[in-house]
Amino acid sequence: MEDVIIIGTGPAGLTAAVYAARAELNPLVLTGDTPGGQVTITEALDNFPGFPDGISGYELFQNMKNQAERFGAKLVTDTATSVDLKTRPFKIQARENLYQTQSIIISTGSDPRKLDVPGENQFAGKGVSYCATCDGFFFRDKKVVVVGGGDSAIEEGLFLTKFAASVTVIHRRDRLRAHAHLQNRAFANKKMKFVWDSVVSEILGDKQQGVQGVRLKNVNSKDISELETDGVFIFIGHIPNTQIFKGQLDMDETGIIITDRRQRTSVPGVFAAGDVQDNLYRQAVTSAGAGAAAAMEAEKFIAELEGTAYPGKLE
Ligand code: NAP
Repeated sequence: MEDVIIIGTGPAGLTAAVYAARAELNPLVLTGDTPGGQVTITEALDNFPGFPDGISGYELFQNMKNQAERFGAKLVTDTATSVDLKTRPFKIQARENLYQTQSIIISTGSDPRKLDVPGENQFAGKGVSYCATCDGFFFRDKKVVVVGGGDSAIEEGLFLTKFAASVTVIHRRDRLRAHAHLQNRAFANKKMKFVWDSVVSEILGDKQQGVQGVRLKNVNSKDISELETDGVFIFIGHIPNTQIFKGQLDMDETGIIITDRRQRTSVPGVFAAGDVQDNLYRQAVTSAGAGAAAAMEAEKFIAELEGTAYPGKLE
């Protein structure tokens, strides 16, 4: 029986682990299938305070992990597959073990949203990618398209210009959603091109060559066209990894877990932090902050359960 189990090891989960370990809760941390989560596929974080020259996502993960372990957090390579939050202690069924715990911090992150068009699954890893840092290198001097108009699409598109001969952004509207500073950089970059008011309706290619093109549909004129490309990078948002909590925790219509400003979910003793409960900021630093708050709340919850005093000032 654990006091607190943290599910997920992105910035939210590992920061929660540091705080919970320092509070002597001996947190058990389930790493999930991709330890470190999405931050590990970010080549350089230039906006995480304390690293004036930037830090790679993988290095940040390693540092946070080492820090959590230094204070006694137990990282276990296991992935939660179902939970029972209706009875106490809570139960977490994972691939390797069944765990029981008084409190849970959910920091399972999110996965890239898929386009859901013909060719997408067929050419995944053969020209279709959701990660410029991972796959950009393979497109040296080649033509690629980026789908989406948000910060991710433009930031990753700019990164791809390091390798690719050209990066064509395909966006379903006539203006980008991305922040102005990214837009300015993108419009000033000679390798970046834009196809407006258009969606990818099919990814074209063959088994040997992989991706060779995309079929586009103009959403206004309904005209269909084809564009040659060697790669398709898709950045159209994320889906929170909250399936195993469905029906047990309050969520919004997109599957985001609803928390109050103290990271508390609809079940007392269950807290959530990071992309699973935040689709507004989705930054490593905001996730880390939420993880710290969740751990402090878990500490308070355990103290109340055990009838001991919480040392801080939370109500
Ligand atoms: P996002 O802001 O939700 O943008 C998704 C983009 O994909 C939008 O342009 C959207 O079009 C488009 N889209 C969605 N579904 C589509 C579909 N089925 N077909 C075609 N296009 C589709 O997602 P994000 O770019 O991943 O960013 C998520 C959050 O992380 C944001 O808050 C962002 O500010 C933050 N972020 C920040 C940074 C940074 O600060 N450096 C970097 C990355 C992400 P519409 O515009 O028409 O809706």
